[in-house]
Formats: sequence, C-alpha cells, structure tokens
Amino acid sequence: MVALVPIRKPARGIPRPLRPNLRGLTRIQLETFVTSKLGAPRFRADQIFEWVHRHRASDVHEMTNLPKPLRSLIDEHADLRRLERHGDFVARDGTRKLRLRTLDGHYIESVLIPNDQRGFTLCVSSQVGCSMTCRFCATASLTFERSLAAWEIVDQIEQAQDLLEQASQREGRDHGRSDDPESWPYRLSNVVYMGMGEPLHNFIPVKASVEIVTDPKGAAITARRITISTSGLVPAIERFSRDPLSAQVGLAVSLNATTDDVRDDVMPINLKWPLLALLNAVRALPDARRRDLTFEYVLLSEVNDFEDDAHRLADLVREFDCHINVIPFNPHPHAPYKRPSSNRVRRFMDVAKRRGLRVYLRTPRGDDIGAACGQLALEGESGQAPAAPLEEGRTT
Ligand code: SAH
Repeated sequence: MVALVPIRKPARGIPRPLRPNLRGLTRIQLETFVTSKLGAPRFRADQIFEWVHRHRASDVHEMTNLPKPLRSLIDEHADLRRLERHGDFVARDGTRKLRLRTLDGHYIESVLIPNDQRGFTLCVSSQVGCSMTCRFCATASLTFERSLAAWEIVDQIEQAQDLLEQASQREGRDHGRSDDPESWPYRLSNVVYMGMGEPLHNFIPVKASVEIVTDPKGAAITARRITISTSGLVPAIERFSRDPLSAQVGLAVSLNATTDDVRDDVMPINLKWPLLALLNAVRALPDARRRDLTFEYVLLSEVNDFEDDAHRLADLVREFDCHINVIPFNPHPHAPYKRPSSNRVRRFMDVAKRRGLRVYLRTPRGDDIGAACGQLALEGESGQAPAAPLEEGRTT
C-alpha cells in the first residue's frame, strides 16, 4: 500500500539560528542574554550594545574593553555577522540603492535618498519579496520568500550609516568610528519602512528593529522620524493601534484609489478589507498618531487620476489631520499602467488643494537605477540577483 505523505508548503518563516544575531536584540533582550546565557554582569550588555550598534563591530575581538573569556563566550553563543553588500547603485540625483545578500542567500534592497545637504532618508525592506500582489508594484512580481529578522532590518540601517560615515570621513573631517552620528556632516535623519515587503505583515521584528535603532546607545534615530507604511492590512493596523509603538512612529497608509472598484483592481488586499474597513481602522489610531498621518496615493493614468478622484479623496480623508503624498506612477516592465501626463497630475493636485487637502507631489527619486517607489525588484527568479558584478547606474 502506498503511504499517503502530506505535502507541506515550504516554510516561509524567519530562520531561527541557534546562536542569536546580537544585532537583532533590544537592549533589554541583550541584558537577559548576557546575564542568563553568558553569566556576565548586566552592565556588560550596555558595552556590547554600543560595540554592536555604535561602532558596528562585526567581530568580537574588536570589543577591547571586554575581558577575553567573555569575548570567547560571545563568540561561542552569539552571531555578529552582517548582511553582505552585493551592489551599490548611484543615481543621477544622488539617490543610492544598496543591494544586500542575506546569510541564506536572498537579496534585498534599501534606498538612501538625500533630503538636503546633510540629511538622508533611508527606505528599508521588511520582507524578501511581498505577498500583497499590488498590481502597480514591481516587488509584487517577486515570489514572497520570507519576512526579515529584526537584525536584518537593523543592519540595513547600520550599513547606510557606514556609508554616510565613510562619506563624512572623505569630506576630510576627523570622524572616528566612535563619534556621535549627530556630529557627522552627513547623517541619517529619517527611516521609512517603504522598501520591499509589507511591514505590518512582519510586526514583531519591525517593532524590535525600531526599538533598537532608536536606542540612545545605538544609532539613536529619533522615533518621530520613522514612518511605517502599510498597504492596508486592517487587523494589523488594529494591532498597531493598540501597541505603544503607534504613539512613537508615523504611519503611512497606501490608499491609491477612491472607490472599492478601482482599489479592488489595483490592490487585491481591498477585496478582503475594503475602503470603509480601512478608514475605520485608521480612525481607531491613538489621537496623536491620527493627527500625524500620511496617506500615499500613486497616480495611475486614467485609472485613479480623474478630477472626481481628487474630490472623492477629499471626502474620504478630510476628517483626518493628514497629509497626502501623491506619487506619479514609476513605470517598470511588470505593471500595465502609465504615468499620467503633467497636465493630469497638475489638475489632480489643483482640485485636491482647492478642497483643502495637504497634498505633496513626490518627484521620483533614483528612477534611473530602479530605486524609485515600487521599482524595487531583482532580476532573475525568486528575488535572486544575478551573479554578475553590478555596475553603477544599471537599471533593474
Ligand atoms: N507595503 C507597504 C510598503 C511598500 S510600498 C505599502 O504598501 O505601503 C511603498 C509605497 O510605494 C506605497 O505607497 C506604494 O503605493 C508605492 N508604490 C508602489 N509601487 C509604485 C510605483 N510603481 N510607482 C509609484 N509608487 C509606487
């Protein structure tokens, strides 16, 4: 008789290595690890945290103020490896796309965008691929592989800081690795969870990553300058609302349509949680967060960019004290849409402004290197980048 073997879908979980990567432990978690696993006094946790996040050490032997036996214990019980840099593209407008390889061989991208002379915004990925299947987004064309671990999100931010620190040093200023990032000529001022993936689909690691990078003993990014963007996962927004994190970081909601018909079509998540449910969930956010909310609206030519859309948008969001980022569609080969003409964009903006909305037109950044919103997708199958070396300025 043939035995029936249940066929299981491959696990999509985050790998759980036996030795935790110290980059993904919050300071409290690190204290527990140091005292219970390593049997060392609590104050060592602060020292290790600073080595990992301030000096961005990738080898325990760099931790010179720790006793040698403790360093050996760390070596034995913990992991300090980082993501491997696998490509660095620089766009004409100064935007930089970093391609990073995870330890299990997946590729992710983050985008470093200059804001002004000193400050940069980093757009980080929260998953390998995405399961949201938005029809205008290139990442949706990749297979969803897995969510990222907290340390993999933290390391995207810290690798960007490495780059900014190096650039600061190149400017001829004396900035040692131990210096306070606040004093660098170039610094990371904002972090947006708007890269590959749906951050609210990976809530616990995303939350831990925020806790780690906002820690004053680490990267010390100001929580108010962090924004988490969601495609509209209603139960996840409700969970976020109940979590203290929602009082700290900003929330951006990708609205992208003003009727269920159109939103069903461009964002299939709407079939499950339509506009009314989405706006109800947003209404339940803590007061402070509701007062400081962003809606994103990708303009797709002759799909959602009619003057009537601008009127309906005003009706939908006017109760919120929000601002709206209008992003003309960034084209890529995987989507059946067109960027609207500048006339259509202007008309949409004019109506929205006349209706009293705080609308900001987002110009594409780094679109010549496939780094603009919705262009993050890797060549080859299942999110694998080509093995060939990556030259600057190649379009993905
Ligand atoms: N999953 C999250 C974060 C990633 S998408 C979310 O949906 O919010 C980040 C933003 O880029 C979203 O507002 C999305 O609507 C926008 N976007 C995606 N593809 C785009 C494209 N091709 N052109 C312009 N904006 C795009």
